[in-house]
Amino acid sequence: MPIGFPKKSRRNIVRQSGDGAIAKPSTRVRLRPRADWHKRNFLTSVLIPSLFIKRAGDQAPRPPQFPKIREGEICITWIGHASFLVQTHEVNVLIDPNWSKWLKVIKRLKQPGFEIHHLPSIDFVLVTHAHFDHLDRRTLRRVAADQPIVVPMGVGNLVHDLGFHIVHELDYWQTVELGPLKISLTPCHHWGARFLADLHRDFGGFVIAANGRTIFHCGDSAYFPGFREIGDRYRIDIALLHGLSRTRRQNFDPDALRNFSPRL
Ligand SMILES: [Zn+2]
Repeated sequence: MPIGFPKKSRRNIVRQSGDGAIAKPSTRVRLRPRADWHKRNFLTSVLIPSLFIKRAGDQAPRPPQFPKIREGEICITWIGHASFLVQTHEVNVLIDPNWSKWLKVIKRLKQPGFEIHHLPSIDFVLVTHAHFDHLDRRTLRRVAADQPIVVPMGVGNLVHDLGFHIVHELDYWQTVELGPLKISLTPCHHWGARFLADLHRDFGGFVIAANGRTIFHCGDSAYFPGFREIGDRYRIDIALLHGLSRTRRQNFDPDALRNFSPRL
C-alpha cells in the first residue's frame, strides 16, 4: 500500500544563484562492475549471513548525559554510522541522522548509541547525500520540527515534505548562514543516486563554522585530491571522516590521508 505523505509545496526548497558556467570536475564513482564481480556474491556472502548475526550494542541504551556547553566550546557526539550531533552553547545540529534498524532488506548490525527520543531539540539538520543509510526519511520525519535542513543540489525533493521549515540546496563551495553557523557544502568522491536513474542528485560533505571553530564531515567520501583543496579553503579544526569508503573500487589509500591538510 502506498504511504501517503502530505503533499507540501516545493516552494520551501531554496537554491542560491550560482555561476552555472563553472564546469565541475567529476568526483562521481563509476559503478561499472569489476572484472571479478561474479566471484563475489553479495547475497550469500553478506546479506544472508547478516540475518543471523545478533545486532551489536545496547537494545535500550541509557539516556546520554550531554554536557553543559559554555561559550566557545563545541561538543560532538557520534551516534552511529555517519550520524553525528554537533552542539555549541547556542545550537544543536544533526548530521545524517538514521535510527532505522533496516535499510530495506539490509540489516543494521550496530544499534545507534542512544535512542532518538534522547535527542535535545534540534535547530538544524544536514544531509550529505541521498543514499538510504544517510538520508532516512522515517528518521527525518521524527526529527523535523519546522527547522531548516541543508542538502546538496537535487536532493531537496526527498525531504521537502517531512516537516522542515525550509530546504537549502547547496552547490559545491556554497555557504548558507543559519543563526550563528556558516554551513558550506564541499565536493566528495562518491555518488548520489538513491536508485538507478536519479543521477542528477549531488553528494558532498559539510564544513560547519561555529564559534571560531571549523568542523568537517566528509560525507561518504573515499580519499580524493579534493581533500587538499578543502584543507586549503578552510582551516579545519575537527574532521569527521566517516568510513572513507570501504570498497576496493574506490581505492582507499590510508597513507594518502597524511596529505589531507597541512594544518591537520
Ligand atoms: Zn553513500
